[in-house]
Amino acid sequence: MTGAKGPRPRHIPQRTCIGCREAQGKRTLIRVVRTPEQRVIIDATGKANGRGAYLHANAACWEKALKGGTIKYALKITPVPEDVEALRAFANELPAEESEDV
Ligand SMILES: [Zn+2]
Repeated sequence: MTGAKGPRPRHIPQRTCIGCREAQGKRTLIRVVRTPEQRVIIDATGKANGRGAYLHANAACWEKALKGGTIKYALKITPVPEDVEALRAFANELPAEESEDV
């Protein structure tokens, strides 16, 4: 038996938020990237070279990723404390909850 051969669903690139692990193709995800200098920065353009990870634009996801150390696994690097501080500072500017109407 070969399964049903229905039309394949159209492929929509999905990014998984490393904070809540939910894949979101549509909602805003913010990219963080590991630079060749082994720094972790927010990639505002989405085009920086390097290993990247994605996070929802809400503080809770960032806190989970930073607290739980998920970002280390995602980027295969332990961010230096000042980078963690920078990411935290950025997260603090984000809404606590993801807004639905963006
Ligand atoms: Zn998330």
